[in-house]
Amino acid sequence: MAQNTPHTLQRIYWTALYEVLLHQKTMFILLHEDTTDAAPGMQPLQTDPTPDANGEVNYYEEVETGTKIDKLWRSKLGKFLYDTVVKAELAQEGVQLPTPPDQILLSSLPEHYVLWTHKKGDLHTPRTDHYLHGSVYVDRFRSPTEFLPHLKWLLDGQPMKANGKRDCKCCYCDGSRPQGEISKDLGAYHKRGRGGGKGGRGDRGGRSKPRSSVPEAVPYKDYRVF
Ligand SMILES: [Zn+2]
Repeated sequence: MAQNTPHTLQRIYWTALYEVLLHQKTMFILLHEDTTDAAPGMQPLQTDPTPDANGEVNYYEEVETGTKIDKLWRSKLGKFLYDTVVKAELAQEGVQLPTPPDQILLSSLPEHYVLWTHKKGDLHTPRTDHYLHGSVYVDRFRSPTEFLPHLKWLLDGQPMKANGKRDCKCCYCDGSRPQGEISKDLGAYHKRGRGGGKGGRGDRGGRSKPRSSVPEAVPYKDYRVF
């Protein structure tokens, strides 16, 4: 796994579920190991790239960390988490950033989540699609946008409804809403977030979280930085 690691990461904030690290103007959102609903063994079954008699392939290949598609997913997910969760928490806790981040990345996908490339069709020019597998509840997510609400649900501590169902807004957990409608809502949510007019983030009680607003230099571990 090729990794280009910065020498220093400054940890500026942490909770029981995640922490926020800075390297110059790049912000990393690092999810803790148990901030996940995934388990090993949820990967696609068809991983044999051998073409059939017609020269056609149909298989899945794991996306490696640091590749363009991996970075694209982690940067979309990081930016979204910053806008919808992290920014408000930092403000609420009085954490000041030395400079606004110009790039925000999820350090790595939640534990046991794996991004896959599906290749289907002609051996030389197959159609390629990307899917995120790993959740024990959802078969797969087909885009970062589909996964966003589910990721937010993980960062909210995986709340459940009174009826025992997941209180998650993704199109799979909340089957009543099509993805188009959810995406529209996410856009509206962004606008409200930027305005900063809304006070709290709702039901945040109940979780006791260690917090700190004191910047701290942390030794580099295995953050998936590129
Ligand atoms: Zn969900």
